[in-house]
Amino acid sequence: MDFSSYKKGTKAIWAGEDLFSVNGSATTPVVGSVAFSYNDLDKWYDVATGNTEGFIYSRNTNPTVSVLEEKIRQLESGEAATAFATGMAAISNTLFTFLTPGKRVVSLKDTYGGTSKIFLDFLPEYNVDVKLCDTTDHEQIEAEIAKGCDLLYLETPTNPTLKIVDIRRLVEAAKKSGAIVVVDNTFATPINQNPLVLGADLVLHSATKFLCGHSDAMGGVLTGKKELVQKVFQFREINGASLQADPAYMIARGMKTLELRIERQNASALTIARYLKAHPKVTDVFYPGLETHPGHEIAKTQMKGFGGILSFSVDGGYDNVKKVLPQLKLVHLAASLGSVSTLAGPPRTTSHVELTQEQRKLLGIPEGLIRYSVGIENVDDLLGDLEQALGKM
Ligand SMILES: *Cc1c(COP(=O)(O)O)cnc(C)c1O
Repeated sequence: MDFSSYKKGTKAIWAGEDLFSVNGSATTPVVGSVAFSYNDLDKWYDVATGNTEGFIYSRNTNPTVSVLEEKIRQLESGEAATAFATGMAAISNTLFTFLTPGKRVVSLKDTYGGTSKIFLDFLPEYNVDVKLCDTTDHEQIEAEIAKGCDLLYLETPTNPTLKIVDIRRLVEAAKKSGAIVVVDNTFATPINQNPLVLGADLVLHSATKFLCGHSDAMGGVLTGKKELVQKVFQFREINGASLQADPAYMIARGMKTLELRIERQNASALTIARYLKAHPKVTDVFYPGLETHPGHEIAKTQMKGFGGILSFSVDGGYDNVKKVLPQLKLVHLAASLGSVSTLAGPPRTTSHVELTQEQRKLLGIPEGLIRYSVGIENVDDLLGDLEQALGKM
């Protein structure tokens, strides 16, 4: 059933659940079966050749995985969707589908670490021309797109300093060059931002983060224009980076509370960002919801809420990060984000560990930066926890 006339919180719960319900079950079960059998050989042939809908082999499609795909498709207003084993599988399969030798990709210096590695190390080996621009320099990005561009790859807000790029503006430039626009929407989630509605062709997520929401399953999803999603699906089928039914079930289950969680995380992150901004031992706070954030005006035009992630640096640099972080009681000091529980870590150890200090400096990432992914705990407890930890500095 199409839930497009309903709000996102409703879609997150209902979308896809009607497709493969068993005997009226309220959720689609985990269909662990690798293969699907047919007594009618003509029907088997029709499904295998794609003329009739159905399932053949779970590397290609699977009912439980289809439920998750349908949820994300409806939440992002896509035409089709396909799922992957991880977020990086979604990103690499998408990039390698469209960026064949001789093509040119324009992107940002601040993309997710793994994505950046594909741009810097892997794609050049396949004779793809990669141009990474200063993330917030819209004029430079437009100029590079105009020089010739097959694919424009964006991420906003970025990791870990929450830089904001203007999706509508860059989509316009990309359309003039005939480029496909792909947006990594992991940080914003479909509750806060819908790149397809802003004109992008494809949007992808690490479903490991907010979509799943509980730090207990990994996955990736891609949605957007049918013809483009279909191409990536065909690559993924053979490349084999498919999502299994078990994590698909976990992610689809987590997604039912997506709107509740994100509304809570949006509100808590803003409260915490304001608190940190006023704290004498905090030197910088990066959060697009703060009026002082350089991307705030753009963020207001394309985001419904400003998300659950912020970063801040403390007086005294990394030496003091080492003192403060272990004092926090209500955090997992870990590399992930987007969970019900608060997670924190220094980008120099987590997302940007592969870079040199000099490279981090060029990206504007202070050595004393802490990335803080706000969970759904009571915000007063989180504020109290930060207060006692910062007090020990
Ligand atoms: C985590 C993350 C990824 C990679 O996802 P995995 O599921 O870990 O492979 C990609 N993009 C962003 C923005 C992320 O935060």
